[in-house]
Amino acid sequence: MKIGFIGLGHMGGPMSRNVLAAGHDLVVHDVRAEAAAGLVAAGAAWADSPRQAGDGREVVITMLPAPPHVEEVLLGENGLLDGLAAGSIWMDMSTSVPAVADKVRALAEPRGIVVLDAPVSGMATGAQAGTLQIFVGGSEESYRRVRPLLEAMGDPDRIIHVGGNGAGYTVKLMLNLLWFAHLTVTAEVLTIGVRAGGELAMPRASLLASPAASYFLDRDVLSVLERGDYDESFTLALACKDLGLAVDLARETGVPAEMSALVEQIYRRARAQYGDNGGEMLPVKLLEDLTGTPLRLPQE
Ligand code: NAD
Repeated sequence: MKIGFIGLGHMGGPMSRNVLAAGHDLVVHDVRAEAAAGLVAAGAAWADSPRQAGDGREVVITMLPAPPHVEEVLLGENGLLDGLAAGSIWMDMSTSVPAVADKVRALAEPRGIVVLDAPVSGMATGAQAGTLQIFVGGSEESYRRVRPLLEAMGDPDRIIHVGGNGAGYTVKLMLNLLWFAHLTVTAEVLTIGVRAGGELAMPRASLLASPAASYFLDRDVLSVLERGDYDESFTLALACKDLGLAVDLARETGVPAEMSALVEQIYRRARAQYGDNGGEMLPVKLLEDLTGTPLRLPQE
């Protein structure tokens, strides 16, 4: 297929490389031209603007930081929407909100341009391995059209059509909110266990054998416990963006969300402490620093 790809960062870089490797004809764009160097060397073409990235393309993917960037790329000067022709698809894989896509859709659909949301989970490692989980919102027919393209980036068993336009964004925000909540409370639970006298491995093993076990405790927390790696491939700035959007969604839907608001505040504290580019798991370090209790498993 003739594909355009805009946003070549931690996620979009490796995702677009997988699209190219699957044999698609690829045009790329980013505000940082240097982000495209490797892709162009591997056979992708460079577009000077989002508009040019849409020219003659069947599907254009955006993988941008936050809703304002998506709006700028689609509707700004030399924006993507002006470059797309009838019958083409704009698929936003960013973690964003329906409001921006709805605004674009109101202009796009009368011109015969299809809009899909398809946010992902699986971290930068999943983007590199082509094993992302993908949540697609939009019509069944357009989902079927892009499914082979999605399989170049994601795990076929975990590419899910979750509903109409916007449904993918919503599922993704719920997933991240729950994961960040797991992280903050797991850090507290393990710190209490260690300070009450247990070796870290002991309370963790007991919890994993109990109804309180979680995927986070079993797998994701290991990067901190084994290597002191707080995952800089997903920044605190983006984590705070996601939590802000999730809490906004709670407000818009009239749901009292005390726990979610608290998790957001803990993340904002970590961002103030460690900076925008700190890793998404640094709220664990907040507690480690505060209590003088490093959470590390003994080296084998
Ligand atoms: P990133 O900041 O590494 O990459 C974003 C890219 O967009 C950058 O290369 C930047 O130069 C480019 N960009 C910004 N504004 C632009 C504009 N106006 N025009 C063209 N290019 C522009 O971010 P990321 O970590 O790759 O995340 C991208 C999206 O994926 C975010 O919505 C994030 O929440 C989501 N996400 C990230 C991860 C992760 O682990 N990093 C996992 C799942 C989802």
